[in-house]
Amino acid sequence: MSGPRIQAIHVIGGGLAGSEAAWQIAHAGVPVILHEMRPETATAAHKTDGLAELVCSNSFRADDHEQNAVGLLHEEMRRLGSLVMRAADGNQVPAGGALAVDRDGFSAAVTAALTAHPLVTIERGEIGLPPDDWDNVIVATGPLTSPTLADAIRALTGQDALAFFDAIAPIVHRDSIDMSVAWFQSRYDKAGSGGTGADYINCPMTREQYEGFVAALLAGDKTSFHDWEGSTPYFDGCLPVEVMAERGPETLRHGPMKPVGLTNRHRPDAKPYAVVQLRQDNKLGTLFNMVGFQTKLKHGEQVRIFRTIPGLENAEFARLGGLHRNTFLNSPTLLDPTLRLRAMPRLRFAGQITGCEGYVESSAVGLLAGRVAAAEWQGRVPDLPPATTALGALVNHITGGHIDTIDAGPRSFQPMNINFGLFPPLAQAPTHGPDGKKLRGPEKAVARKRALCRRALADLDAWIAGRALAPAAE
Ligand SMILES: Cc1cc2nc3c(=O)[nH]c(=O)nc-3n(C[C@H](O)[C@H](O)[C@H](O)COP(=O)(O)OP(=O)(O)OC[C@H]3O[C@@H](n4cnc5c(N)ncnc54)[C@H](O)[C@@H]3O)c2cc1C
Repeated sequence: MSGPRIQAIHVIGGGLAGSEAAWQIAHAGVPVILHEMRPETATAAHKTDGLAELVCSNSFRADDHEQNAVGLLHEEMRRLGSLVMRAADGNQVPAGGALAVDRDGFSAAVTAALTAHPLVTIERGEIGLPPDDWDNVIVATGPLTSPTLADAIRALTGQDALAFFDAIAPIVHRDSIDMSVAWFQSRYDKAGSGGTGADYINCPMTREQYEGFVAALLAGDKTSFHDWEGSTPYFDGCLPVEVMAERGPETLRHGPMKPVGLTNRHRPDAKPYAVVQLRQDNKLGTLFNMVGFQTKLKHGEQVRIFRTIPGLENAEFARLGGLHRNTFLNSPTLLDPTLRLRAMPRLRFAGQITGCEGYVESSAVGLLAGRVAAAEWQGRVPDLPPATTALGALVNHITGGHIDTIDAGPRSFQPMNINFGLFPPLAQAPTHGPDGKKLRGPEKAVARKRALCRRALADLDAWIAGRALAPAAE
């Protein structure tokens, strides 16, 4: 183990993740240089030179740590002394159960705290590949990483490892799929290298259902691309499902919805006219993605239309589909468990570029990256919160919880918000309420979420208590 050195940790990108990482590093007593390219070099979405600028909505989403996954993440970050959460709480505006903020006040609070910290130096200017003598670097340059740095990262990771668009197919909670209608089977029962021959969930459609579904896709309300997204190439192999439908009524039936090689286990006599397939998305087997269903349909339309698919009538979506400009790594392959690039371990990644999604998640990954980078600098063994916490579940999903496609096809790792599907299941899910009555339907789901939240916070507290480094107290 090496002792403390004079050289600072370098954090590239003064957005949500980079600001949080720099704060955690400085709080641990380690000097840090935070590099932000604005205002010298602009991005297509930022408008100011402030640190931690919110580029779109001013909401950090639900602030309920008793039964909501993102609310739980808020609370865990607070318990670890998050600067982002402190600035958000201090600049809250009324928004019902959500934590919404005055965006200028929020960014000003983050900027002021970092500027005032004696161990933080803020340098303005774009960084390309970090110089060789920067031996502990966090890259937190976000979905709009500058092209120079993106090219340098691509040269290190390989052509296909850095995506510039997320083409997201909806992801469904496994336990919300009606398996009395759907069934497990791989096409032609093929096991492939990592499969069993029954790896996909199949939802059958009759001709009438298929034709109604295609008509609904065509009529559904879609979102449009931003001007600056239009020129980014993305279409190869990931056409939106509604664009495929526009190409002709039979296109989907010969593409992602082809019924060949599949036999309805519930009705072997009735050959399906079309089949929607869902593929396991995480190692826990709690989430399944709709194969080939990347889409620009508006979120409400996706829920309405996709719940007409037999077996998905009560589907709960861990995330809905989309197509956006985004720069992110194929992290499960490229990053080690403490977020270091395997090909160049002096570089660690944080924020949306790692394949998390959202302001809170990006800040959370920044918090973890800052803590492990500081531990490494101090010669301590870097460790991360347990997988049962929201922080642990998120980072585990990014660095290893996701499974790649079972068969050949486009890579499947796509950015994801925190959700309960990323948590290891409870050893014993609640079955009865405090009054002794048997729980049913929605009550049971709420009780499960509450139990997951309680377990997470208890495990986080135990983890914090076991660490020499106290939370970054205000
Ligand atoms: C248009 C758009 C809208 C979004 N809207 C929302 C939303 O409403 N709600 C939500 O939860 N999430 C939203 N997101 C997703 C995401 O949560 C945010 O982008 C979030 O800001 C990501 O945090 P980050 O720290 O990873 O990146 P950012 O906050 O973008 O920070 C990255 C920083 O790195 C700097 N930078 C880039 N390249 C370099 C370089 N080479 N050298 C130095 N500095 C560099 C940038 O200027 C920027 O300040 C949106 C994303 C986009 C692109």
